[in-house]
Amino acid sequence: MIAVLKTGVPEAQRQNLIGWLEGMGLKVHISEGEFHTVLGLIGDTSRVDMDLLGGLEIVESVRRISEPYKKANRKFFPDDTIVDVGGVKIGKGNFVTIAGPCSVESEEQIILVAKKVKEAGAQILRGGTFKPRTSPYDFQGLKADGIELLLEAKRETGLPIVSEIMNANHLPLFEEVDLIQVGARNMQNFELLKELGKTKKPILLKRGLANTLKELLMSAEYIMAGGNENIILCERGIRTFETYTRNTLDVSAIPSLKEMTHLPVIIDPSHACGHARMVPSLAYAATACGADGLIIEVHNDPKNALCDGAQSLTFEQFEEVTKKVQKVREAII
Ligand code: PEP
Ligand code: MN
Repeated sequence: MIAVLKTGVPEAQRQNLIGWLEGMGLKVHISEGEFHTVLGLIGDTSRVDMDLLGGLEIVESVRRISEPYKKANRKFFPDDTIVDVGGVKIGKGNFVTIAGPCSVESEEQIILVAKKVKEAGAQILRGGTFKPRTSPYDFQGLKADGIELLLEAKRETGLPIVSEIMNANHLPLFEEVDLIQVGARNMQNFELLKELGKTKKPILLKRGLANTLKELLMSAEYIMAGGNENIILCERGIRTFETYTRNTLDVSAIPSLKEMTHLPVIIDPSHACGHARMVPSLAYAATACGADGLIIEVHNDPKNALCDGAQSLTFEQFEEVTKKVQKVREAII
């Protein structure tokens, strides 16, 4: 349930109302918008007399929120959320480009890629260190050593870093990682989500291969329910009957999520299509659709990459993409 307050309500009256609601065992989530203050009521709201609440002098309107996601709901927080990743802002008009290899492979590789993507305009460096591979015989990532190398690349370039976590026990290793990724395969690993909810770290939550947008938002809700509201959502392609591309990019997820939630939404065109030659087109489409950013795989030597080489852009290709993305942004503003 939400209660929208009238403008200019004195603080004492507002506190009185909040105290009364909390007295009924409810949690009150306050969001200060540009024009209105919205009180989001979480808990058993069946005891709240809607007519009584709506009839109070300081209350403009009262509405029940039927969706099961509350804190992630745009009705709860009508404004766009801005997530700060090591000083880089994402959301509410702040567009971000994240780039780097699928996996950290060596010191030389990650430092070179970090420098090159920064030169081309990337603001955050990606690099997988714990890799969720379909086959147990494939490269599994450099793990803790990979995180050390990413941190070195961060020191060299000043770029904040993002890497995927697969096990909550690894959280201490991610202390200096600016943005923690929950990959598609772990979107519904609820125990992991709960642990991440206890931290204050920004989380990049990727949509599962076969999950609905509502399920994605329920996963975000798990993290938010624990107190961590720093979440960036990522659409990275879903499973359909089509096999020509690795997955099918659901561009309609962008305007849909923009209606459903206040959280920033970015797109991963690399995992969505699986082919480097198609990545630029999907990046432009996502930008034109209003995404808050892109996460793109870039490699110094795609042919010999230990993971996802076929979908990785070269430095030159990435530079061209960032330039054209900028043009698309200018065209749609
Ligand atoms: C990745 O970002 O390298 C990755 C494994 O992504 P996803 O979870 O979307 O497959
Ligand atoms: Mn990858």
